[in-house]
Amino acid sequence: MLDTLGRPLKDLRISVTDRCNMRCAYCMPKEVFGPDYAFLPQKELLSFEEIERVARLFVQLGVSKLRLTGGEPLLRKGLPDLVARLSALEGVEDIALTTNGLLLPQLARPLKEAGLKRVTISLDALDDETFGRMNGLNIKVERVLQGIQAAEEAGFELIKINSVIKKSENLHAVLDLAEHFRGTPHTLRFIEFMDVGNHNHWDMKDVLPSRDILALIHDKHPLEPVNPNYKGEVAKRYRYTDGQGEIGFISSVTDAFCGTCSRARISSDGQIYTCLFGTFGYDLKTPLRAGETDDQLLERIAKLWSLRADRYSEERAVKPRDQKIEMSRIGG
Ligand code: SAM
Ligand code: SF4
Ligand code: SF4
Repeated sequence: MLDTLGRPLKDLRISVTDRCNMRCAYCMPKEVFGPDYAFLPQKELLSFEEIERVARLFVQLGVSKLRLTGGEPLLRKGLPDLVARLSALEGVEDIALTTNGLLLPQLARPLKEAGLKRVTISLDALDDETFGRMNGLNIKVERVLQGIQAAEEAGFELIKINSVIKKSENLHAVLDLAEHFRGTPHTLRFIEFMDVGNHNHWDMKDVLPSRDILALIHDKHPLEPVNPNYKGEVAKRYRYTDGQGEIGFISSVTDAFCGTCSRARISSDGQIYTCLFGTFGYDLKTPLRAGETDDQLLERIAKLWSLRADRYSEERAVKPRDQKIEMSRIGG
C-alpha cells in the first residue's frame, strides 16, 4: 500500500496519553501546559482493547513496527498489559517505547517481561542546571540516569538516548553527552530542534545543525559514517573510529527525510496523523466506537494513506504552517 509519493506504510506510533511529568519548553512549555490546561478526559482515550484493534488493522495494512509514546507513555496505567497484547499480534516484528525515563525504575522489568523489545530514553544535558531548566520542573539528571540503569538491569541491551539540542540552551551538552555514552552499548542520537506544535517559540536561529554537532564531536573523537540498517532509517549513523560505539543524527530541519517517511501516528484519542506536523487528524475513534467492521475501518485507513502527500519538513522553508498538532498529543 503506497501513498501519493510512493511511500509504504510500515510504522505506527501510538500515543497512549497526552499527559506528562515533565514540561520541556520545546514540547509542553509550562506557561501553556499549566494547572488549568485541559488534558483529554479518560473516556476520550482509546482503551487497550481499542488500541489493540487499531494496531491489528494497521498490521494488516503493512505495519510491522510499533512505537509507544505520549506525552509520557509510562503515565498510562497498566502499560505492560498493552505491551503484552501488542506483542502477541501476528506480524508485529518490533515494539519500542520512547520515554523520559522517570518511571523506568518501577516499569522497566514488567515492560520487558511483557515483550517490549527496545527503549529510547530522552536526556538533553548532564548538568542539573541545564536539564532542570529544559525539563521545566527542575528534575535532576540522576533520575533519568537511574531510569537508564533500570532499563539495562531489566535486560534492554541497546538503548537509544535522544537529545534535543538548542543553541541557546544546551550547546555545551553535546560533548558532555557524547563522552558520557561513548564506550557504552547505547546509541546517543541528536535531534534537531523542530517547530512542532504551536507554542515552543521555534526559531531557525536556535537550531544547531547536525553537521555542526558532528564536527564538534569529530574534532575530539574521530567518527566515520555507518551504512544504514535499512532503507528509510531516520537517524544517520556514525561510529567512533576507535571502536567506542555509535552516535546518530536526526536532522529533520537541515536534511529532511520525508522521501522515505513510512510512519503513521495515532493520538491517544484515536485520531490518525500522517505527518508529525499535521494540522488535523483523521477521526478513527468515532467509526470505531460506532461499531464499524474491521473491513470498513481498513478501508478508511487504506484510503487515508493512499491520499497522503505530506512532506512538511521538505517544504517548511517555503510553506511554514501556523496551526500544528501538539507533539504531546502524538509523540515524537
Ligand atoms: N515523553 C517521552 C520522551 O520525552 O521521550 C515521549 C514523547 S516525546 C514528545 C518524544 C521525543 O520527541 C523526545 O525524545 C523529545 O525530546 C522529542 N521532542 C519533543 N519536542 C521536540 C522538538 N520541539 N524538537 C525536537 N524533538 C522534540
Ligand atoms: Fe514530556 Fe517528552 Fe514532551 Fe518532554 S518531550 S514534555 S518528557 S512529552
Ligand atoms: Fe514524515 Fe511529516 Fe516528518 Fe516529513 S515532516 S518525515 S512526512 S512526519
